[in-house]
Amino acid sequence: MGNKRKNKKNRLDIVKFPVVLLSPIKKFLEKEIEKLRKRKDEMEKDDPFRDESRTSNNSLEEDLDEQLGHFESEVKVKFLLKQMIQFRKALSRLRIGKYGICEGCAKMIDTDRLAIKPEATFCIKCEKERM
Ligand SMILES: [Zn+2]
Repeated sequence: MGNKRKNKKNRLDIVKFPVVLLSPIKKFLEKEIEKLRKRKDEMEKDDPFRDESRTSNNSLEEDLDEQLGHFESEVKVKFLLKQMIQFRKALSRLRIGKYGICEGCAKMIDTDRLAIKPEATFCIKCEKERM
């Protein structure tokens, strides 16, 4: 009785990202990657150039429609791929224990920034310098 088990004196190093948050972040990143992958697959299917039933004797209007559709899906797929790479990067940094540490300056990324953009691997300062 009167057991003081809840003695949490072993505080985590404040410089590092809180370990308790890593597991939900990992799940979040994995889920997002999966979502992005599905969206990318759907986008690729939307590409009229992939439509095997399309004919070569289109009217000009149909041709333009196809070109536009192809261009649009290509842009979207590229964007989704970029996003996926970023999420994967954040996930692999999490696995090696470097989540939340800026790739550029090795300082902690602002947690407010990570709350909005959990896939960020650069701090705001370094990200701006990269642009
Ligand atoms: Zn930085």
